[in-house]
Amino acid sequence: MPVSSTGAACIEVERVKENAPKVLDASRLASLIEALRRRGYEVIGPTVRDGAIVFDHIESAEELPAGWTDEQAPGHYRLKRRQDQAVFGYAVGPQSWKKYLHPADVRLWSAERQKGTFRILNNETRPKRPLAFLGVRACDLAAIAVQDRVLTGDRYRDPVYSSWRDGAFLVAVQCTQAAETCFCASMGTGPRAQQGFDLALTELVDNSGHRFLLQAGSDRGVELLAELETLPATEETLRQEEAAVETAARQQVRSIDTTGIKDLLYENFEHPRWDHVAARCLTCANCTMVCPTCFCTTVEDISDVTGDHAERWRRWDSCFTMSFSYIHGGSVRATAKARYRQWMTHKLASWIDQFGSSGCVGCGRCITWCPVGIDITEEARAIRETGSHGNT
Ligand code: SF4
Ligand code: SF4
Repeated sequence: MPVSSTGAACIEVERVKENAPKVLDASRLASLIEALRRRGYEVIGPTVRDGAIVFDHIESAEELPAGWTDEQAPGHYRLKRRQDQAVFGYAVGPQSWKKYLHPADVRLWSAERQKGTFRILNNETRPKRPLAFLGVRACDLAAIAVQDRVLTGDRYRDPVYSSWRDGAFLVAVQCTQAAETCFCASMGTGPRAQQGFDLALTELVDNSGHRFLLQAGSDRGVELLAELETLPATEETLRQEEAAVETAARQQVRSIDTTGIKDLLYENFEHPRWDHVAARCLTCANCTMVCPTCFCTTVEDISDVTGDHAERWRRWDSCFTMSFSYIHGGSVRATAKARYRQWMTHKLASWIDQFGSSGCVGCGRCITWCPVGIDITEEARAIRETGSHGNT
């Protein structure tokens, strides 16, 4: 039936009303987890384990890191108690969502010897239930978009990544505080999550109480939000929310000037700074393991001692290992200098040529988890300040 212009306007007004920001009292956060579980999602969220905030399966709001925050600096991470009971009062932990979307170890297939031949069994990689990620920061949303482009946006679609990514429900959490290692503001990826989520929460703890401002980002988010017991957001709450997210941007003490960075790095391939960083780099690969956009893998075939059972595994690999660039008789990148330069130049320059965006979202994990505190922002700045700028 055709809809009159008045009817269309009414539908539009209803949609705007449905999508208006709402306030959820902190005591009702459990209802969000329950609503996700009722819809069949396996909820993954932050929790405290082994002295860090990590992601894991969450059954109840009690498992969330209420009252904890993180203290981060180059090569330094500590959990500390907060003065309040904020649930998302930390920046980012060592893990990103690639733990689930692009797992570290995947069995691609296994094979059994039967009657003199091998029968190949394809291993089921599809999750039993779709995933709901609770607490996705803006930088990590940007990282998921980067991995979407790399792993599903070209001729070859990674079936493992797609099976976890398709249907995943993303609950973003706006940052209201930054760690000393964050620099998303300079990378244009945060601290406000603008898109790519189903629902976004901003946690507010002040004299007006402990509550969440909720904004839907998709039809699924609108539906879920309608199920929760919320109140309409007042102008005052919206102003407080705006100020809280601005605080996270203002607190950032690190940045990368991305102006002409691709040409800058290409033109400074022989800059002495690469020797300077190589003298400190342990080539331990930590930076690539914690990075939410690094996607390189290797393939390993194993068999049991009887030779009757074999498996093929896909595992995370790193451009910091010698074997990564081993080609018949030698490694192309035999030195720490060559490997660090490859990693940083890929992140900030050749990624743009390959995929049309930076490979760095400014989460700061590589700075925090580098055992010797190597800082990508400092390395980029050193090259800009002392390198050649032929084409920039
Ligand atoms: S930069 Fe740091 S984390 Fe990365 S390989 Fe070198 S020592 Fe390890
Ligand atoms: S390079 Fe470092 S700061 Fe950039 S996305 Fe990777 S871990 Fe985060």
